[in-house]
Amino acid sequence: MRALLLAPPGAGKGTQGTRLAQAYGVPHLATGDMLRDHVATGTPLGIEVKAVLDAGDLVPDRLVIAMVIAAVAGPPPLDGFILDGFPRTVAQAEAAYEWAKDRDRTFDTVVHLDVPEDELVRRLLERGETSGRTDDTAETIRHRLHRYEESTKPLLDLYEQRGILVEVDGTGSVEDVTRRIQDAIAALVRR
Ligand code: AMP
Repeated sequence: MRALLLAPPGAGKGTQGTRLAQAYGVPHLATGDMLRDHVATGTPLGIEVKAVLDAGDLVPDRLVIAMVIAAVAGPPPLDGFILDGFPRTVAQAEAAYEWAKDRDRTFDTVVHLDVPEDELVRRLLERGETSGRTDDTAETIRHRLHRYEESTKPLLDLYEQRGILVEVDGTGSVEDVTRRIQDAIAALVRR
């Protein structure tokens, strides 16, 4: 299982990523969590990216690419994973593909969670009341959604063309969404 969750902020990537990783017995690699850990522990990478995260901007491609490749390459090398939040730009997707294709580690499924924008904003503002995340504020949420539309959404076409994209309705209960994702993955595998 090498799956990627590709969806806007607030669509449920983190929640579903954790549940899917457990269901399929693979690690959950969430680049946002990894970057926030670097910030919290004050590593050189964390110091470099803190202002970018606070502003809801995208961390430079070369930094995230290196971080993700290091995590997948190991040790231990990861054969399977649920990747959440990477790639977020065409350049990241191309670099990941170049690295993975020679090592037989390309994604086999890309899950897009579809949630209307007003629902995304509502969820993120609600999360901001308790998450302590510096980027869950009204203005930064708008900026992150804009970044997603501009830089990340174009990846959907790329994965659609590769025949590995599944579209899932991301509204409703957490359990329902997990079940829909698992059904969609099973259907893709049978195809
Ligand atoms: P997330 O937890 O997925 O919402 O990510 C939080 C923040 O981490 C984003 O707003 C970006 O600043 C940064 N980030 C996470 N993943 C990436 C990525 N693949 N490329 C660039 N920045 C990222």
